[in-house]
Amino acid sequence: MNKLALALLAGASAIATAPAFAQDALPQVNDSYFKQAQAELDRIIARQPNTGKAKNVILFVADGLSVPTVTAARIFDGQKKGVDGESNKLAFEELLPYVALAKTYTHDAQVADSAPTATAMVSGVKSVNGTVGVTQAIKYKDCTSVKGAEVTTIFEQAENAGLSTGVVSTARITHATPAATYAKVANRDQENDSQLSDADKAAGCKDIAAQLVDWPAGNGFEVILGGGRSNFMLKDQADPEADGKTGSRTDGRDLVKEWQAKYNDAAYVWNKAEFDAIDAAKTGHLFGLFERSHMQYETDRAKDKGGEPSLAEMTEKAIDMLSKDEDGYVLMVEAGRIDHAHHAGNAYRALEDTLALSEAVKVALAKVNPEETLVVLTADHSHTMTISGYPKRNNPILGIAGKADDGKPYTTLGYMNGPGATAEGGRADLTNVDTSEPDFLQQALVPLGESETHAGDDVPVFAQGPWAHLFQGVIEQNMIYHVIAKATDMAAKPQKQASAN
Ligand SMILES: [Zn+2]
Repeated sequence: MNKLALALLAGASAIATAPAFAQDALPQVNDSYFKQAQAELDRIIARQPNTGKAKNVILFVADGLSVPTVTAARIFDGQKKGVDGESNKLAFEELLPYVALAKTYTHDAQVADSAPTATAMVSGVKSVNGTVGVTQAIKYKDCTSVKGAEVTTIFEQAENAGLSTGVVSTARITHATPAATYAKVANRDQENDSQLSDADKAAGCKDIAAQLVDWPAGNGFEVILGGGRSNFMLKDQADPEADGKTGSRTDGRDLVKEWQAKYNDAAYVWNKAEFDAIDAAKTGHLFGLFERSHMQYETDRAKDKGGEPSLAEMTEKAIDMLSKDEDGYVLMVEAGRIDHAHHAGNAYRALEDTLALSEAVKVALAKVNPEETLVVLTADHSHTMTISGYPKRNNPILGIAGKADDGKPYTTLGYMNGPGATAEGGRADLTNVDTSEPDFLQQALVPLGESETHAGDDVPVFAQGPWAHLFQGVIEQNMIYHVIAKATDMAAKPQKQASAN
């Protein structure tokens, strides 16, 4: 035995015998942080992995929910409630204890968009930016390359096995993330037929809205709630909410009417009052389109003309509808506008929409049996917002962090690029600016006036329920599908119908 080993042995026996090393004799033993961490450790030690079968799956996709967005939102939430923001926890941090980091790069890009990343989560493959529901074999914008590249999603497998399915989003229901559950396109911007080229039409390619209504899986989604009404309505149909506005379709297909004609137990709604009047027990299929385009940001929702349900209210209704099925269900809930607020360089709305998501998770967990429901919450990609400077504890998260070398104050939250940058003349002096008001745009470095970009850093995956413990370490984003498939034992379910496209 060498000297080092002997010394280590001696040290080990000293630890075992000398009471001075016992934990309760440490001088910090009554420190509040020390005690809090001990309690947290005890909770983790007591946690038992659930290896039962997942009857139900709820996949929350928080579009653009970067790690800094989670941190800033929890501080924002705490400060709004008048409690300590830094140590505050959002509902999904509290309720979804298993966490992993997901790598979001795609088959052809370092920084992803929402189309291939949603495809990764619901079908298990990485694919090409800008494309939905297809493998790496796709050629972007070449709709003839869709054939042969289609995936079968977990929603299609579930429908074909007789489960119920739902898709809920605050974005257009034809937008990339929800579309990945049902559509197969070489170009995510083909949400209605007027966005297809003549060549694409001649080749028989179909827009995303039409694919939703023509979806061949099982008996179709039991729940579809979101925005994007104009993609389902004709150009000569007046919108029921927006004065002087119409639908977008030019192919003569009234898709709302077509959807209604498919079922005898169905309800279509477009405003809050109609939504509230829906009796989930008596409704087999529910289709809600609350805006011509995306639904309102949570910040602006109360001002909506027709009225809109919150993400939590849509989630609750969806679970009420789907949980009638003894075979179980698969539901996607997208908080689709955290991303849009970040693109606008507007941290306030991104944080408010994150809190609305947290509320939806709380409502969902209170409704389901957590023993038999796998709940996963993740983001498709990151954004460029950072939390920087050395602000003091309890400093308002939307406030000023300090003074920069140019003598002007700078905010804690800022963007690497986007509309908050000035191309010339240096940045604005924020000395007398209320940086916490909803319309304030955080400053950015690189001027991209149209839109701040996504970012390429990993995103968190939070999970709870059967096999949620498989979310650990740094994983590829497409692993999310594989955990869902394993937890539900989807491969063992008899498929009533081969998924056709
Ligand atoms: Zn985006």
